[in-house]
Amino acid sequence: MRAIIFDWGGTLTPFHDIDLLDLWRAAAEVLAPDRVDEVSQALARAEAQWWQQAVASGRSGTTADVLAAAAEATGFDVDAALHDRALAAHLEAWTPHTIADPQAAPLLTALRERGIRTGLLSNTHWPRAWHERWLARDGLLELLDARTYTSDLAHLKPHPEAFRAAMEATAADGEPLRPEQVVFVGDRPLDDISGAQAFGMRTVLLPGSLRASTVNPDNAVPDHPVEPDLRAAGLGDVLTAVDAWRRS
Ligand SMILES: [Mg+2]
Repeated sequence: MRAIIFDWGGTLTPFHDIDLLDLWRAAAEVLAPDRVDEVSQALARAEAQWWQQAVASGRSGTTADVLAAAAEATGFDVDAALHDRALAAHLEAWTPHTIADPQAAPLLTALRERGIRTGLLSNTHWPRAWHERWLARDGLLELLDARTYTSDLAHLKPHPEAFRAAMEATAADGEPLRPEQVVFVGDRPLDDISGAQAFGMRTVLLPGSLRASTVNPDNAVPDHPVEPDLRAAGLGDVLTAVDAWRRS
């Protein structure tokens, strides 16, 4: 066991059960101040469709794809400057919902003290810069040897190429990792656990923060029949499991 790779939302960061439409309103206010309701709904719909297609096809993309789809649906023009301002407003609205689990930094520190490489693999259309700003704010950036975002890749989890990219990024220079030397920790049975298992990694399933949603059923993490190596109650259980695996 030489490396551990974490999912982000619902794993290192508890996700909140929030109405995504509200978060798109900030972008709509920049893009079309006189059509905020219509445009924010188009953006939320475009994002939901983006995720459905991405999951069905395994193909990744960026937030720009979501904006472009909403622009096409509603007929508004998005020039580069407006696009950047709208995206910034949307991601700013997300900021309070991106606070790391307080157990994340002590866990990553303890793993590194054991000489274990640490990595992140997030299914996301958001740009790297925003993820890294949030990680730096919470003191996690320096504790993760590698951060892999599917917005920079062609594929999402559970596609094996996403896990391969994260594993290669997490390896130390000149010391390539094999899947069986890596533990993957995530909250989604299909994307995280099934995907990592099929790639040959050991897996830890966390209960996550969105097993069910009272705000929008689309927020909830779908179930999927899979047996992880460990069902943990929280991040606090991960170190105990890692120590046991290293002794065995
Ligand atoms: Mg997650």
